[in-house]
Amino acid sequence: MQRKTPMKRSGFKRKASSTLNPFSGTAVLKGTTFKRKARKKRAGHCKTSLSACAGQPCYLRIDGVCCGDWQTTVPAHRNEGKGMGLKTPDRLTVPACFTCHAEYDQGNKLTRDEKRGLFNAAYDRWAPYRARLLGWETEGND
Ligand SMILES: [Zn+2]
Repeated sequence: MQRKTPMKRSGFKRKASSTLNPFSGTAVLKGTTFKRKARKKRAGHCKTSLSACAGQPCYLRIDGVCCGDWQTTVPAHRNEGKGMGLKTPDRLTVPACFTCHAEYDQGNKLTRDEKRGLFNAAYDRWAPYRARLLGWETEGND
């Protein structure tokens, strides 16, 4: 049986030009050494971004799918890149109703390209609004 010993791989230091978060427009932390233990927490964790979605209208609004029920709105993570070792930052979320979220994550009515376009359009509308809502001076401040 192979045991995973994450603490052992401490010789690895992230370079200054780390591309930890390719989706985010934020400056990458320079020269930071990530401790294995700290990284157990999901990279890009941002509770504020998630809670901002509560009580919002659905931003995905998939034709013929959207239930339009604000009560069911949850943060939908952009699901591109999963399975490629990338983690989706919480900031990359849009409010989506239950049915749109399910279709976006598991549905097959839309192609990947359509989903991507839909998410990007939704995010473009949502991000500036969320920034105002949370009092963020610029996109990318936690
Ligand atoms: Zn919807």
